[in-house]
Amino acid sequence: MKKENNSLTLIILSLALNKIYSNFKIYESNSSDENFYINFGCDEQVSFNDFKKIEKEMSKIISGAYKIEKQGKTYICNNIKFNGIDLDKKNNTKELKFFTLTSIGGVDNLGSKNNYRIYGNGFDSQNEKEEFLKYQEELRSRDHRKIGQELKIFTFDDLAGQGLPILLPNGSYIKEKISSYLKSLFFKNDFEMVNTPVLGSKKLYITSGHWDLYKENNFPPIKIDNEEFMLRPMTCPHHILVYKSSNRTYKELPIKYFEDAKLHRYESSGGLIGLERVRAMELFDTHIFLKKDQIKETIAQLSTMIKEVFSKLNMKIDRIDLSLRSKEKDKFFDDDSMWEESQTMLREILKELKYDFYEIEGEAAFYGPKIDFQYKTILGKYITISTIQLDFLLPKRFEITYKDQNNEEQTPVLIHFGIIGTYERFISALLSQTKGNLPFWLQKTQVEIFPINNEFHLEYAKKVEQELLKNDLRVKLDSSNERISKKILNAQKSKIRFQIIIGDDEVKTKTLSVRKYGQEDSTKMTIKEFIELTKKE
Ligand code: ZN
Repeated sequence: MKKENNSLTLIILSLALNKIYSNFKIYESNSSDENFYINFGCDEQVSFNDFKKIEKEMSKIISGAYKIEKQGKTYICNNIKFNGIDLDKKNNTKELKFFTLTSIGGVDNLGSKNNYRIYGNGFDSQNEKEEFLKYQEELRSRDHRKIGQELKIFTFDDLAGQGLPILLPNGSYIKEKISSYLKSLFFKNDFEMVNTPVLGSKKLYITSGHWDLYKENNFPPIKIDNEEFMLRPMTCPHHILVYKSSNRTYKELPIKYFEDAKLHRYESSGGLIGLERVRAMELFDTHIFLKKDQIKETIAQLSTMIKEVFSKLNMKIDRIDLSLRSKEKDKFFDDDSMWEESQTMLREILKELKYDFYEIEGEAAFYGPKIDFQYKTILGKYITISTIQLDFLLPKRFEITYKDQNNEEQTPVLIHFGIIGTYERFISALLSQTKGNLPFWLQKTQVEIFPINNEFHLEYAKKVEQELLKNDLRVKLDSSNERISKKILNAQKSKIRFQIIIGDDEVKTKTLSVRKYGQEDSTKMTIKEFIELTKKE
């Protein structure tokens, strides 16, 4: 019934806006279980500050008991027509009990003097409304854009270009730590690193099929001399060319490549969301070339690697989806027997690995089925962290081969493997999930030391700093003249895990006064005990 309440609120809001503003006009309206929105125009300027006035008018409309009539798919109330909504049983404005307006933003080029979009929700009970507002508050406190700004992780600048993120030193540090961890894990698992250019010829993407299928997501080609180049949207074709650079035999397979690959994809400016949806991104991208009879053992190996990464990042695999082709076959590479075979194969492998999984139709890649490993966020949303995609198509398109035991040419299978997706999206999820209280190993500064009085305590504080540095902790000694309470407040704001305070007593007893992020009290301990404590992080 959520959609119905949202639809009803949309009608009531429109009637209220029509009453308050001149030349009110609806350009688009939509209602779902999640919320409703209307795009509208009017002569006056409208802002968040007007919500009180609008809500008051809405209450009047509710008690005014306006009748709502249905004509086909259109609803009519007080001579205003509504589309994109759904009322099940309710047909009068008095049937709405509770509502809230959540946001207002400007919309370009609708055609009126001033153009806006308002979002809101309707509810059956006060309780339902309060739950919703609590959730909204939680959502705001986990907004990675706000956290990223507070912790100086990333920035955007219109001069650099919309949707093009700039990672600041703190963000670059996180990225580098994750990258070097992944590289060492992948080297251990017999992957090789490659480096390929950020531009590719248009022909390359015509061959791969990305040109046709992702036209609207590609940046337009750059013409130079007689060649056309593209900012690459993905790395697969390049890695195929690495494979193709030598003659391959069955003995070499599986061949596994990885690369920290910078990619570019066009997103409409309205679709850009902080680091979550950007136009320039970096993907830890990997491709595996193998024989058909190696698929099972390889997927087993990859899923072990996925488990290791999830546990290193304090995450749990909450759901596995097997993404299949849908009945609308034209979105997918046309080869029924290939799809039948590869889908059956993945299904069997997942069963053998004893995974519980959901089969989702229509979510496959255009070249083949995939397995998505998902994580459930604190807000209850599932996000895909890792993906294993089976591909029989691109090897054929690029005519890559290997020689089998009988010296005959065969086509290898390709697996596209993403372990954490793009760094940008991953960091945005990490910030939201932890509210910026990052895993210890990703913190640029892990410990901050504050001598209370430089004259008496700095010397011992320096000794402590040296000892901690020797133990591979990332330490900052703050001997500025700022008040100690201010220093602690700043360290809490930047979410540094441990603050060490050094005063008379600590110097005398050779101890530390340690306060952990988020805790009110500090604890006395020796340097050795503190080092042990950090090992548990
Ligand atoms: Zn790929």
